[in-house]
Amino acid sequence: MGLNASVSTSDLPMPAQRGCEPSIARGDFRQVMKTSSSPRPSCSRCGTCCRKGGPALHREDRHLVEQGLIHTRHLYTIRRGEWVHDPVTGVLVQASGDIIKIKGGSGTWACRFLEDGPNACRIYADRPLECRTLTCWNTAGIERVYAIGRLTREDLISGIAGLWELIIEHQERCDVERIRRLRMQADGPPAGRRARELAEILRYDTELRNLVVCRAGLEAGMTDFLFGRPVQQVLRAMERAVSGLMTAPTGTPDRLPPG
Ligand code: SF4
Repeated sequence: MGLNASVSTSDLPMPAQRGCEPSIARGDFRQVMKTSSSPRPSCSRCGTCCRKGGPALHREDRHLVEQGLIHTRHLYTIRRGEWVHDPVTGVLVQASGDIIKIKGGSGTWACRFLEDGPNACRIYADRPLECRTLTCWNTAGIERVYAIGRLTREDLISGIAGLWELIIEHQERCDVERIRRLRMQADGPPAGRRARELAEILRYDTELRNLVVCRAGLEAGMTDFLFGRPVQQVLRAMERAVSGLMTAPTGTPDRLPPG
């Protein structure tokens, strides 16, 4: 069933299980290129780039989600303001808007569609734009498209009345920049009010996720796509990013580890 304006929330692709081991980065494209010895006529499907993390989706990939070829339980959203590793420049940057990515599998960076053993992609015929564009012997193509035309939650679900309003409300109440400011100030005086605000955001985020699962019947794995990663994880990633920025050589912070 597709995700379009005419469907209700109950028509969303239903995940069978929860599983979110978010990998933020696809890997540094130039490092990927270094692993390739020489130009080749075509991809040998060695799986090296797939093991460095799943791709971010672009508008060209919209039909994959709408047609259920990639279910929302396999996705997570990096929200505006979160720190992400930019594999083109190799540095941490703050996301300027939604980045919808395919989750990793079994606690690794590897894309969850990568089969064990033969390095086979389970959706190879329908693999997303970034997978079709990333050729490890020449990363110019992926570097051109990487930051352009990213798919957003608005593209996919703004037509689903009720659900979309919930997402907007969550986005406003759990705005990443607001969380960052509260976190930075929560330890200093007067800490009490800010710490309480932060605790209220955490409570709201947790309760909303539980609510859509228990009351609306959505499966838990979908909440990473609908509302982004839990605020608790965003906070942890934020703290790691800040400490990485402080310890890394100027302008070249280390890649952000999984959330
Ligand atoms: S979707 Fe397929 S080709 Fe793309 S990263 Fe995942 S396993 Fe690799």
